[in-house]
Amino acid sequence: MARIAFIGLGNMGLPMTRNLLAAGHAVTGFDLDDANRAALAEAGGTAAESATAAVAEAEVVVTALPAARHVKAVCLGEDGIFAAAPRGSLFIDCSTIDVASARELTSAAEAAGHEMVDSPMSGGVGGATAGTLTFMVGGTDAAFGKARPVLEAMGKNIFHAGGPGAGAAAKICNNMMLAIQMIAVSEGFNLAEKLGLPAQSLYNISSTATARCWSLNDYCPAPGPVPTSPANRDYAPGFAAALMLKDLRIAMEAAQQAGAHTPLGSMATQIYTLMDLAGESGKDFSGVIRLLAGEH
Ligand code: NAD
Repeated sequence: MARIAFIGLGNMGLPMTRNLLAAGHAVTGFDLDDANRAALAEAGGTAAESATAAVAEAEVVVTALPAARHVKAVCLGEDGIFAAAPRGSLFIDCSTIDVASARELTSAAEAAGHEMVDSPMSGGVGGATAGTLTFMVGGTDAAFGKARPVLEAMGKNIFHAGGPGAGAAAKICNNMMLAIQMIAVSEGFNLAEKLGLPAQSLYNISSTATARCWSLNDYCPAPGPVPTSPANRDYAPGFAAALMLKDLRIAMEAAQQAGAHTPLGSMATQIYTLMDLAGESGKDFSGVIRLLAGEH
């Protein structure tokens, strides 16, 4: 069992630490938010006073932070955790960040004598809690081999996507598809309502017909059909719309640089920008159904 430092104990990070603890790992964690640190201690982990203190005796360091700028701020520089961790540590970044940043971080980790994988995740807070996340990992074969047993304590499907940055690439493609699907499902349920078709009826039919997808079957944006979906708790996240907008912007930048045509990705970015402008970006991304219904 490993000594694991965990930085970023938010919606995803906290339930992930609970699964690492349940698997018998020793977890020392840090988050800027006092309440999140207290929750780790309550779960049986150790709350550190800083990120550098958290990694001081680590063998493995997991980060689950909002965006690339947070990961860089925590990892790089003289005060960063690459400098503070024991040489030869394995870094696993589970945050969703752009490919170039993932590669830059891996190079910096290696220059500091560590190994690193970019290992963004999919499956939401439900998957983080149940330990059934999907991880898409970019890194060398050796680093992937070391990361796998740690990731297996938090997830069910662990994919080696390719070299450094390949995990980040897989994640932004996945989330662009997810955003488009969530908007499509929302439009369908809004139309059904106008046509007098109950949400449960549409769900029963479409969840077994050709429109079925995760956004519909597992995370339905209309209240009622899926009891665990954020629609039934006033769209409390879950996966905040602000994070989805971040991912879409990363995807659009990548598409532009790579010369890929993504018209629906571009439209989805605009729709989530409107959700942000409406002051709703702290809500779950499935709350886009309300924006599309003209409620904001
Ligand atoms: P979150 O905002 O709930 O958690 C991030 C945590 O990082 C917060 O608790 C914040 O206080 C902490 N933090 C920020 N800066 C810090 C710093 N400098 N030092 C220490 N802690 C710091 O976000 P989340 O939903 O847990 O997502 C984390 C990452 O996982 C994001 O990159 C997100 O895109 C990705 N992700 C989220 C989901 C989801 O469903 N929520 C699913 C897949 C991937």
